[in-house]
Amino acid sequence: MLKRSGFKSRGSGFKAAAGELRRSKFKKKHTKRKEGYSNPDYMSKVAALGCAICAMLGYGWVACEVHHRRTGTGGGRRAKDTDTCPLCPNHHTGSDGIHQGRKNWELRFGVTELGLIEETQQKLGFISES
Ligand SMILES: [Zn+2]
Ligand SMILES: [Zn+2]
Repeated sequence: MLKRSGFKSRGSGFKAAAGELRRSKFKKKHTKRKEGYSNPDYMSKVAALGCAICAMLGYGWVACEVHHRRTGTGGGRRAKDTDTCPLCPNHHTGSDGIHQGRKNWELRFGVTELGLIEETQQKLGFISES
């Protein structure tokens, strides 16, 4: 005797698969990015410059991270990738870092965040639209 019940369950199996497909359509929404805010090419060029503070202090080229402008940002305003400057981990988020307090940091090194950003843009030949 052949059992045929095994073939009958095929229909419900297909339905389950369709449900999986439907669910997978709900992809995570990407975080909103305004046009021109993301510029990975520029970011990598900034990183290649090496820490701006270390260079100023005569330490030569020091591997760095890319710091985004904080002046005038916050409260929904986001810095563009072209509003950045190169800082090593120590001068970025470390104990001698700008993230410890920008005003004191600027006084200590005799620079301004915006000044460094402009300098970086000039070095890379970037012309700001504003
Ligand atoms: Zn540094
Ligand atoms: Zn930063």
